[in-house]
Amino acid sequence: MNGFDPDLVAVGPANNFVAGLRLRGNGAHMEVLRPSDGRAYGDLDSADIGQVDEAVSDAWQAYRKGDWAKAEPRHRIRVMRRWADLLESDAAALAPTEAAGSTRLFGEICSWDLGYAADCIRFFAEFADKTCGESVPTTPDKMGFTLLEPYGVIAAIAPWNLPIVMAIWKIAPAIAAGNSVVLKPSELTPFSIVRVAELAIGAGLPPGVFNVVQGYGASVGDRLCRHPLVAKVSFTGSTQTGRAIMAACAAEGPKPVTLELGGKSAQLVFSDAPDLAQTAATLARGITINSGQVCVAGSRLLAHEKVADELVDRISRIFSANRIGATWDERTTMGPIISERQLGQIDAIVGRALASGGSAVVGGTRAAAPLDGSYFSPTIIAGLASDAEAICDEIFGPVLTLQTFADEEEAFALANNNKYGLAAGVHTSDLSRALRATRALEAGTIWVNRYGRSNDYILPTGGYKQSGIGKDLGREAYLGSLRSKAALIQL
Ligand code: NAD
Repeated sequence: MNGFDPDLVAVGPANNFVAGLRLRGNGAHMEVLRPSDGRAYGDLDSADIGQVDEAVSDAWQAYRKGDWAKAEPRHRIRVMRRWADLLESDAAALAPTEAAGSTRLFGEICSWDLGYAADCIRFFAEFADKTCGESVPTTPDKMGFTLLEPYGVIAAIAPWNLPIVMAIWKIAPAIAAGNSVVLKPSELTPFSIVRVAELAIGAGLPPGVFNVVQGYGASVGDRLCRHPLVAKVSFTGSTQTGRAIMAACAAEGPKPVTLELGGKSAQLVFSDAPDLAQTAATLARGITINSGQVCVAGSRLLAHEKVADELVDRISRIFSANRIGATWDERTTMGPIISERQLGQIDAIVGRALASGGSAVVGGTRAAAPLDGSYFSPTIIAGLASDAEAICDEIFGPVLTLQTFADEEEAFALANNNKYGLAAGVHTSDLSRALRATRALEAGTIWVNRYGRSNDYILPTGGYKQSGIGKDLGREAYLGSLRSKAALIQL
């Protein structure tokens, strides 16, 4: 996969998308920077509150008009399939736009993100004519049944770490179920999804069904949550923001929320792990993919005492072999941190870990890179107390902490000793142990002898504990885009 010249990528001045048209925002304007080299990429182009209200009102009118919500389900499926096809065939424009402004490597966007997003749209489209309510048992003089109906307008609020994929997780089930959507992307990665919305209209989605408003969370995002015509909010981002969103939805609703939040996922390696070389490679990738900026980053290594040294040695060597650089450089294996602010936070938490007695087995510092962007070296920190900040809190960078255990019971206790519960990895050759772990670990996803997502969209994703409420992906995400109505007919 060849790289590209980021200076040739143009994002245009108008990046709000309402009722099928690109619009300039009347709100705050700020330079958006490219994380790979810190140079200006485009203009944030925020909507003002009046424009947010107009977008919601247009979405509501599109819903009421019914060109989408009341269309024949097979028609919805055909349109969404066309949209998925367009998304894939537009890779030459979409992939550089996504890569230049985010932390995603161009090669990974081309080989994974776009195809994954397109298949996610196809997956959810297929529910449109296969999901129904049920008739219920009652007495012979009555007939009872349930209807599954769209909410109307769903607000989707997305993070920056995989801008297109994270937005599609929200949008695809909501639209397939007949809702209209108003999406607010992250202010750090506002551009690529506007192109995805245009492609949807090109595929035949009626204008007003998929809208994008740009801006900051505290203004645009908050208004979306509080708008009376927004019936549900689907959010992915930090736990702290999730709390604010839930409070806004409670204050102006209450209205339902889906919250996909932060994580601090444990990777448990037992002494019978199938192949330490392979396991080390899996662990290394689990914390360096997207430079550790994924919600399910496997950031806590829990290793059996017998294998810990060898494992850490192997992972350190893999870390050191990384080539850190720009997302558009085909030689890069690990890209930048999203912003100087986020880099500063990673640096500070690692600094405090080292000052409090931890030791950096490898890394531990900002990384020098060929360009003037924000980079952090892949890091392993050992020797921390189990209540240390770096072990308890999400870092959202390429930082792995090491803890060792003597037996299964201790391993499960260490893994569960955390406020988050998004995912966990278990590496063992013992099937019974794998199954015991699957039951015992308090997390929404358990991976055994692998770590990371597959194209199995039917598996729902979501968190236990402070990692969230509700699910993306799976049947649950589709059903979460519908509400059920009970009907009882006296015959
Ligand atoms: P963030 O919480 O800072 O922002 C997420 C989105 O919320 C952005 O669009 C932001 O503008 C908006 N926002 C901020 N304040 C708001 C408010 N008061 N009201 C409404 N909207 C508001 O998160 P981030 O830094 O963009 O993303 C990283 C976080 O996302 C990490 O914690 C990561 O674990 C989490 N994440 C979770 C999942 C998951 O599936 N569980 C997936 C990806 C990322």
